[in-house]
Amino acid sequence: MISEPAHVHRLLADVKHVLFDFDGPICDIFAALPAPTIAATLRDYLAPLGLDLPPDIRAQVDPLEILRYAPTAGPLVAETVEAGLRGLELQAALTATPTPGTANVIKQLRTSGRRLAVVSNNSDAAIKTYTDNHGLLGYFDHISARALFQDPALLKPHPYLITQALGALGADPALTVLIGDSVTDIQSAKTAGILSIGYANTPGKEHHLHETGADAIINDMAQLTPPST
Ligand SMILES: [Mg+2]
Repeated sequence: MISEPAHVHRLLADVKHVLFDFDGPICDIFAALPAPTIAATLRDYLAPLGLDLPPDIRAQVDPLEILRYAPTAGPLVAETVEAGLRGLELQAALTATPTPGTANVIKQLRTSGRRLAVVSNNSDAAIKTYTDNHGLLGYFDHISARALFQDPALLKPHPYLITQALGALGADPALTVLIGDSVTDIQSAKTAGILSIGYANTPGKEHHLHETGADAIINDMAQLTPPST
């Protein structure tokens, strides 16, 4: 299921623009501040509002699902969750663990003349903080990520963030690839009409990424080292 190196290299050889999902391909943002802890903290922030949260939100471990729910409960809930999540993601970005091999891949792809962008459902502030702290911000031509009070419906799997990056880069979709570790990454890439590489960073994930239609599957970011180097 993991693609042959020659297949990955052929795909990359023609690509001029490389889009990176953030959590997974670039780092493990929730390495020291786990997503379920953030979800529980968001519920703590909402407690003073005295809401009767739906059972799925009371049990939810994915903070982005709480973000998606928040606007349905009114503007005060939306603002509380959005502000809280931005702060917690920034804190998480400070203790995120770099994905092995990615910094080198980013530098080599950029040096080879390709243009790079981040496309992520995480907040733009967290991504700028992490990439700046790790000396990577300057390698990216654009960051297409969750903006303040952005409609959660426009996050991946919606193609909006990819379309935004294509516009900012002036990129031809046929010459652009997204590297992502989630089924929603592959879905958004297909809807946007760009290529996709699935990063199977946990056992068994390659099957889901393959079934969703990823053009290649890797399990080590170092497999993206450009063929010319
Ligand atoms: Mg991801």
